[in-house]
Amino acid sequence: MSAFVAPPAPPSVAHLALPFFGDEHRALANDLLPWADAQRIDEHDDRAACREWVRQLGDGGWLRYCVPASSGGALEKLDSRALVLLRETLAYHSPLADFAFAMQGLGSGCITLAGSSAQQSDYLTAVANGTKIAAFALSEPDAGSDVGAMATRATATLDGWQLDGEKTWISNGGIADFYCVFAKTEPAGGTRGITAFIVDATAAGLDTSEHIHVMAPHPLASLKFDGCRVPRDAQLGELNGGFKLAMRTLDIFRASVAAAALGMGRRALAEAVHHAKHRKMFGQTLADFQLTQAKLGEMAALIDSAALLTYRAAWMRDDAERRGAPAVGDLSAAAAMAKMAATENASRVIDMALQMHGGLGVKVGTKVESLYRDIRSLRIYEGATEVQQLIIGKSVLKG
Ligand SMILES: Cc1cc2nc3c(=O)[nH]c(=O)nc-3n(C[C@H](O)[C@H](O)[C@H](O)COP(=O)(O)OP(=O)(O)OC[C@H]3O[C@@H](n4cnc5c(N)ncnc54)[C@H](O)[C@@H]3O)c2cc1C
Repeated sequence: MSAFVAPPAPPSVAHLALPFFGDEHRALANDLLPWADAQRIDEHDDRAACREWVRQLGDGGWLRYCVPASSGGALEKLDSRALVLLRETLAYHSPLADFAFAMQGLGSGCITLAGSSAQQSDYLTAVANGTKIAAFALSEPDAGSDVGAMATRATATLDGWQLDGEKTWISNGGIADFYCVFAKTEPAGGTRGITAFIVDATAAGLDTSEHIHVMAPHPLASLKFDGCRVPRDAQLGELNGGFKLAMRTLDIFRASVAAAALGMGRRALAEAVHHAKHRKMFGQTLADFQLTQAKLGEMAALIDSAALLTYRAAWMRDDAERRGAPAVGDLSAAAAMAKMAATENASRVIDMALQMHGGLGVKVGTKVESLYRDIRSLRIYEGATEVQQLIIGKSVLKG
């Protein structure tokens, strides 16, 4: 797997001057940068490294941005621009650090949005200080993009619920302390027959031992529920309201996936610039060639266009939340554009940076090589690019 590689230069903070951000966002980003730069974690074992990142992010106070102030959070409500800046900066330094951060937010987002006060006090404070690891369990072997096809069942018992079925591709599977699990409570109801539950990792009948190995560091597992009993108060939010809850949670985090891609793209550009300035060939440096300058120009423009879409989507959501009114425009389409453009553009930028490194680009241990693997799954999870295109296309047709 990948080792941690220190960046050749700190990321530029020029984007913080954009009007999308407030002074609190600028202060957050400026405080985070030196902290992120000082962290050194051995990432050869992704499960151990992820646990360690959660601990350090908790100790550093950064996980407090994953929950609202009423549960020990840094800000009154989840703030998309803060999430975006955190993920962009963390991903620049370490995609695994970004992953560890993001999953605390995504895995507990449903509890923030719909948890009872007992559920919020049992889980959110521990998420914010890094003592509990969270996970979000929606996907199944035969229900990925098509969430409504899920087959996991939750059946009411005398004193609670029984879960039977299988979830797969679950981030933090096997290391999480609890899972927000979605299951059918009304099998004929499609997406209207799904309810969310909080399932502790220690629940009898839950098996998280089947780890999935992917091309980049990322703790993943399948979850098997075999007569898994949970108490009545494990139900999260409304009965049969689970699909809406999952989508509301994903809506908050979609722009932040774009930000993670942006951080990786910015890092690839920094690596490319550093390499081009130092690599000597034909009596000059690689950076002296116009072909190189054109590539760097293209990479910078791809990154900036992704950044503007990402910051716009985050700003639109925060602005609507602040006013308690509908967003100025189609928020889902804006978030979809950000996710699609940032993940696709970052993939192109990373590929160009790798090409510029020549043979070094494919050598295991070179940063662009690991970024090439790290970026790939972002075009698939939390809605594949094609799903984002459909959301945008429908919005365009609606006018
Ligand atoms: C690294 C990683 C981490 C993940 N973490 C989690 C997690 O924590 N929790 C969780 O619940 N899930 C998680 N997932 C699952 C992820 O959300 C799904 O992989 C994703 O929703 C796609 O589902 P699928 O893999 O079943 O692909 P499918 O749904 O089978 O789709 C395959 C491909 O079909 C295309 N496609 C999809 N819809 C359409 C369409 N309407 N028209 C045309 N083409 C289409 C896309 O290219 C897509 O990639 C993770 C996945 C990965 C890879």
